[in-house]
Amino acid sequence: MTGKSLNDKRCYDISENIKRIHENISEAAIKALRSPSEIKLMAVTKTVEPLFINYAIDNCGIDLIGENRVQELLSKEPDLHLQGVDTHIIGHLQTNKVKSVLHEINMIESVDSIHIAEEIQRQCVKDDYSMDILLEINIGCEEAKTGFLYEEVHDACLQIAEFDRVHIKGLMSVPPICEDEKKLRAYFARIYKLYIDIRSEKIDNIDMGILSLGMTGDYKTAVSEGSNLVRIGSGIFGARTY
Ligand SMILES: *Cc1c(COP(=O)(O)O)cnc(C)c1O
Repeated sequence: MTGKSLNDKRCYDISENIKRIHENISEAAIKALRSPSEIKLMAVTKTVEPLFINYAIDNCGIDLIGENRVQELLSKEPDLHLQGVDTHIIGHLQTNKVKSVLHEINMIESVDSIHIAEEIQRQCVKDDYSMDILLEINIGCEEAKTGFLYEEVHDACLQIAEFDRVHIKGLMSVPPICEDEKKLRAYFARIYKLYIDIRSEKIDNIDMGILSLGMTGDYKTAVSEGSNLVRIGSGIFGARTY
C-alpha cells in the first residue's frame, strides 16, 4: 500500500475503534446501572502523530486529549486542531516544566506530591492563574510508580486544599497490571470508596467530581467500578511504536 492509503486505513481503524469503545463504555455503564453519559472518553495521544490526533478530533468527536510528556505536547501543539478540545497532562510532571505548560492545558491529572502542587500554586500566583488537578494514587504501592499512597491521600487533600490557586477535582490512578480480574476490581473499588468519602466531607476548595480510572486493557472494569473518565491510547490509535 502507498503511504496515503496506509494513512486512510489507519484513520478508518481509529474511527471504528472509537465507536466500539463508546459501545463498550455504554454497555459496562448500563450493566452497572449507571448512565453512559456520565463517562468521558479521553484519547491518550502520546507518540501519536498530529495527523491522526486531528482525525480523531475532526471526525470522531474526540474533545479531550491526554499527553504524558510536556516536551512532546508543546512540540505537537502547533499542529493540533485544539479549538474546543481540552488537554490534560497525565504523566509525572517535573517542577521545572510547570511554568512552560501551565497555560497550554486544562488539567493536571498526575499531581503526585505536595511538592508539585506547591510549585503549581507558586506559578499560578505569579501569573494570576489557576489550575484544576487530580491527585494520582499509587494504589499498588509500586516502586516504579509515582503517586500518593492510599493512606496519604486524605492528608494530601487537606494540605493541597490550602493552595488557593490549585483546585482538586478528583482522583486518578493506574493500578498494577493484574491477571486476576477480581484483584483489579478490588483496586478500583478501594479508590472509588476513597473518592466518595472525600467528596462527602465537602472540604473547602475540593470539588470531587472526576474519577479518572481505566485504560485500554481495563476500562470496562473501571466503568463498572465507578470511573467517569477513561484514558485510552492504544485502543484508539493502535499499538505505540517508540
Ligand atoms: C499511556 C497511558 C494511558 C493509555 O494507555 P493505553 O493502554 O494505551 O490505553 C492512560 N493513562 C496513562 C497515565 C498513560 O500513561
